[in-house]
Amino acid sequence: MSRRLDIEPNSIAGRLMPATRIADELLRATFTQGGFPKALSREASLVVVYGVRPDDAAILNLAAQDLIGGTEDDAWSVEARVRDWTDLDAQRPDYVQRLLNEASVATRTVIVLCRRRADVPTVVEAVADAVLPLADRKGTVEAFVEEIGKFLPDTALVARLSALPLTYLNLVLRPGASRERMWTVAGRLRRTVKSNGDRKPSPQDDKRTKKAGATRPTRSTNERHPERLEDMPGMGEAQRWGLSLAADLARYRDGSLPWSDVENGAVLHGPPGTGKTLFARALAGSCGVPLFSHSFASWQAKGHLGDLLKALRAAFDEARKAAPCVLFIDELDSVGNREEPLGDHASYQRQVVNGLLESLDGTVGRGGVVVVAATNHIAAIDRAVLRPGRLGRIVEITLPDVAGRVAILRHHLRGDLADVDLQSLADEIGEASGAVLAQLVREARAAARQDTRSLLEADLWTALPKGTELSEASFRRACVHEAGHLVVGLELAAVSGLVPTGASVRRRVRNGKENKTDFRVDEGFDSTRESLEATLMVFMAGLAAEEVVLGSRGALSGGSADADLVRATKLARSAQRSLGLGERLSSMPKDGVAALDDLDLSRRVEDMLTRCLTEAKLIVERRRPDVERVAARLVEAQEFALGVDVASPLSSSAAP
Ligand code: ADP
Repeated sequence: MSRRLDIEPNSIAGRLMPATRIADELLRATFTQGGFPKALSREASLVVVYGVRPDDAAILNLAAQDLIGGTEDDAWSVEARVRDWTDLDAQRPDYVQRLLNEASVATRTVIVLCRRRADVPTVVEAVADAVLPLADRKGTVEAFVEEIGKFLPDTALVARLSALPLTYLNLVLRPGASRERMWTVAGRLRRTVKSNGDRKPSPQDDKRTKKAGATRPTRSTNERHPERLEDMPGMGEAQRWGLSLAADLARYRDGSLPWSDVENGAVLHGPPGTGKTLFARALAGSCGVPLFSHSFASWQAKGHLGDLLKALRAAFDEARKAAPCVLFIDELDSVGNREEPLGDHASYQRQVVNGLLESLDGTVGRGGVVVVAATNHIAAIDRAVLRPGRLGRIVEITLPDVAGRVAILRHHLRGDLADVDLQSLADEIGEASGAVLAQLVREARAAARQDTRSLLEADLWTALPKGTELSEASFRRACVHEAGHLVVGLELAAVSGLVPTGASVRRRVRNGKENKTDFRVDEGFDSTRESLEATLMVFMAGLAAEEVVLGSRGALSGGSADADLVRATKLARSAQRSLGLGERLSSMPKDGVAALDDLDLSRRVEDMLTRCLTEAKLIVERRRPDVERVAARLVEAQEFALGVDVASPLSSSAAP
């Protein structure tokens, strides 16, 4: 991981404790990933953040003071206004009205913290500038552990730490603490956590939300959610799978298909904000059955193993009674993986996984209960859970392609701008999740509302993140970098199983993913040491081309979690420690804990990467004219498609 916690040296957070720093980063990520960085500026706006656990509200309030209110040395410091609605029972009867009054005169960002999206009253949703899910804390926690612990944290540890209230992290994340120490202390703390994270809505809630003009999300809110899969845009393969399940479930209900033939369990996996939760709801809608929605992480936050297993069984019991229905379980990766040797805690982990397996297999059967789970990290799921008959179908939910982006924008535009061609806007946005696209439309509407006029296409363009215009030199570097991937990729395609299909670059960088080379992965390719090293060379080829052609190395290969060097490091590490493709035979499961991670492993990984960079540079040197030609074409046209252009500027030996 190369993500850093980007702390301003003079901020309060810089001087404060881990929990405050993590809360700062979490809130900042919520605004930036959600596509509303404006919340951090000193302009008036109303932002709702949902997915906030009641235990975390106070520290997020502090974080907001730090990010928006200014530091104590700041003469212009103004208190940021944060309203904690994570406990609706504790609110005054007129809480919605009071917020509206406050927001209408505020000169700074007003932030409302809610536990669930369903708790956001319709009227607030309608006037808010942004309604954003709290960012996933796992990446931030992982980066922090890496920074202070000096070891690479595994998914089980990160999941355990992430389930704790943020403030408790101050007690666990001590500089120099070992993994074992963190694991044990976090385990003890977890038992003391009293969470009402997945408290069922009480009848009072209903009365209260009605009074406040709110509705449950399944009914129509200001943001129209698709009620059926047929109406859900940009879902690709996943939609086809869901519709065939809906058809099977209908046959099961009319008695023409036995339950054993229904594909009754699936895991949805993909990046946050791609609509996994919406998908589960729309699936239930298409099947015409009720949906029961839970999150494993909030069960886990209950602390005691007994409480967790009780909540798990209760969810399955409730679903069984209402069958046929869809039972949705979010954050499945919090369950853990029995393959990870967790020392004293292996038994806890085993019992959680076994509990889930028991519920899925069900001694009394689970006829009619379709279980759909969601995760952002499929690799962290115990393989036994993914067997046929349990959650046997893995459905990948990818970021939408250009056509998907257009469809999702159309969906959120609700018929507005119907005669406008959205293709070039969707193209310009680049990679973006449904959540980011929804936010873009929301921002455009807010701008139109402010000017008391109807929405214009220009509002959408203005709402695009500004991004950065690359200088001529940086743009050329990006072109050379991608040309390196493409040419070395072609040269090694027969060995690596990665076939380049094209490259694209942009002068304006908005989300950091504009400049890329696309590859088709040959399914079932024979995976050998040679193919792995060839893959590493392809990963390093951008850097190699920069060094050979420009004579210097830029920062393009590092930075994000999916940057070239980060991916190469992960692959080399796994070759060396778990695949038996490195210098040694001793091996660990892929995501296992760091027992074999030592200085020697770091050296072996570094040696492997250095060797592959040298090889990649040799190829670039040999094929330099091709690299320069592709780079020149990218500078000119910003795109380079292979296979389309027969008169490719590559010499004939370049064909894979
Ligand atoms: P995930 O569960 O994958 O994190 P959600 O289902 O919570 O994502 O989606 C968050 C928000 O993003 C939704 O409320 C919706 O506004 C928007 N969104 C995501 N995917 C889509 C889509 N395919 N079509 C329309 N809106 C979408």
